[in-house]
Amino acid sequence: MVTLTPPVNGLSVDVEDWFQVGAFENVIERASWDGLDLRVERNCDAILALFDQAGVKGTFFTLGWVAQRCPAMMRRIVDQGHEVASHGWDHARVFTFDRAGFSADLARARAVLEDVTGQAVIGYRAPSFSIDTRTPWAHAVLAEAGYRYSSSVAPIVHDHYGWRQAPRFAFRPVADSDLIEIPVTTVEWAGRRMAAGGGGFFRLLPYAVSHWALRRVNGRDARPALTYFHPWEIDPDQPRVGHAPWRSRLRHYSRLGAMAGKLQRLLGDFAWGRMDALARAESQRLPR
Ligand SMILES: [Zn+2]
Repeated sequence: MVTLTPPVNGLSVDVEDWFQVGAFENVIERASWDGLDLRVERNCDAILALFDQAGVKGTFFTLGWVAQRCPAMMRRIVDQGHEVASHGWDHARVFTFDRAGFSADLARARAVLEDVTGQAVIGYRAPSFSIDTRTPWAHAVLAEAGYRYSSSVAPIVHDHYGWRQAPRFAFRPVADSDLIEIPVTTVEWAGRRMAAGGGGFFRLLPYAVSHWALRRVNGRDARPALTYFHPWEIDPDQPRVGHAPWRSRLRHYSRLGAMAGKLQRLLGDFAWGRMDALARAESQRLPR
């Protein structure tokens, strides 16, 4: 009998600050960002320390805007063996662009990310998983620009995002291209499908729920999962945005204090690796 080793899951951080999240985009103007308290660097350092303690490597999908302002932080990330990939320039969602605008946003972010790290950027995550049925050209643009993988699709419908018909696990979205898409992890239970890769699911619900979901994906589905979170999620002292809708505030500020401890458990309980390694493993599995 063959003993299956559990799959290595993808560990990722979406590097953006507390004022750049999609939920606040209508109440904090981009033009005001430079006057706000930049907290991403200290929070990233705390995440690097957590990863170091757990002995794990991951991928930091970083906004070009952040990399331009925190080059030393970017170098610490790569010096510690992690991957830097792109999260676009300033968190504009892909469906707000046309094809040319998306291409320009990708190029602007990549130029800064590669300049400050000295390493090639081969991965991309769309802000708020915003590649969906409105952007049928997006994966082709990524393939043309030489990206090897994307992790930008949520195969569910959520109030902010989602592409219900997309496959749950890695697929090749462009004919005649090696590009693979690794959708955010979902779990199926009682006829329902939920996004279970991170964000509010991980932060707001008890740790046992995430543990169950990842075990189910690694076991029952026998597939690798991915997780993602944000530097602001481990920062209970971040400034409060008082004039945002109550629902956004509830979602953004709940259980920030418990996050670091939960992450520590998550890192210890499953096998984790960089997204480029996961993309390579998935690429070998998928037929051309
Ligand atoms: Zn983001």
